[in-house]
Amino acid sequence: MNQLEKLVNPHLIKMTPYSSARDEFKGKAEIYLDANESYENSFFDSNRYPDPEAVEVRKVLEKTLSLPFSKTALGNGSDELIDYLIRIFCAPNDAIAIVKPTYGAYKVFSSTNNIKCIEIPQNSDLTINKEEIFKVLENEKVKILFLCSPNNPTGKVIPFSLIKEISDKNKGITVVDEAYADFARSFRSAVELIDSNERVVVIRTLSKAWAIAGSRVGILVSSEYLQRLFLKIKAPYNVSLLNQRAALKALKEKDKVQKDIKDIISYRKDLEEFCKNLEYVKEIIPTETNFILIRVGDADSLYSYLLSKSIIVRNRTHELYLEGVLRITVGNKRENEKLKEALLGYKG
Ligand SMILES: *Cc1c(COP(=O)(O)O)cnc(C)c1O
Repeated sequence: MNQLEKLVNPHLIKMTPYSSARDEFKGKAEIYLDANESYENSFFDSNRYPDPEAVEVRKVLEKTLSLPFSKTALGNGSDELIDYLIRIFCAPNDAIAIVKPTYGAYKVFSSTNNIKCIEIPQNSDLTINKEEIFKVLENEKVKILFLCSPNNPTGKVIPFSLIKEISDKNKGITVVDEAYADFARSFRSAVELIDSNERVVVIRTLSKAWAIAGSRVGILVSSEYLQRLFLKIKAPYNVSLLNQRAALKALKEKDKVQKDIKDIISYRKDLEEFCKNLEYVKEIIPTETNFILIRVGDADSLYSYLLSKSIIVRNRTHELYLEGVLRITVGNKRENEKLKEALLGYKG
């Protein structure tokens, strides 16, 4: 038994998977009358079911993002992957652990699956508190620890060495959510840990830097054992043909996306500089993402004011250590100018 086999819900190992028409015949033929599809190709070239294994997209992922073909799968957004991971590893009486404050979806999917969520506070300077994490990992039935790097909503990268140390010590699964990796300076991905520690799982997304949030494409990077299991239990057509097509299109535009990332980072710096000079801004929390974090005296008031100017930001004031903090996504030039104009008009 490998390490993962011991952690997976046993009923999943035993179950017989659904076998789709696309699974049963994998060669090339002239005429396909096996899946009850329409022969009429009327709308968006999508009368045929999509490839359940998203082979084309994964080939391009290997070339473009150096994610090894045999270690990747796609999800209907990384949110779906979070849900699946909890379902794969957690049974009633198990728990997941998250470091607070972090992305809300981990806790929500633990709730929908009736799994306990243990919230481990970070340090007040928004760095990871490894002693607290180790304490929880020793004492509780934690099947999955979720780490998010760069973290939403704090914008902080968790150092690679720390992720390695924590995931080595963790007897359960360590999921590293790298949704904002593309924006981080000299980022070292946890993907390279998977070869020596198959309890490490990485999730990426094409929703942020790759600009196709509407297409819902998330990427699961894991050991081949987990890939085989995932393929067995996932809904066969979880990523639509249109979404796979969007992913291919985006990934082919790597140069454009890299230029866009540079622009976004320079706009972010510009917005941060601008906010520094506003009297009512007490602190700019630096981030390695496509959002800025500003701390003000009364976040609710500034939030409502911006709303009255038809500008929606995210109020994070009720999150641990983020009292008074608004999270503002970097927009395009025009949107950022409008935002600045509005911020100048706020009188505290
Ligand atoms: C935005 C975001 C995601 C993206 O989820 P998708 O379902 O892929 O759109 C995942 N994790 C974090 C931390 C995020 O902020």
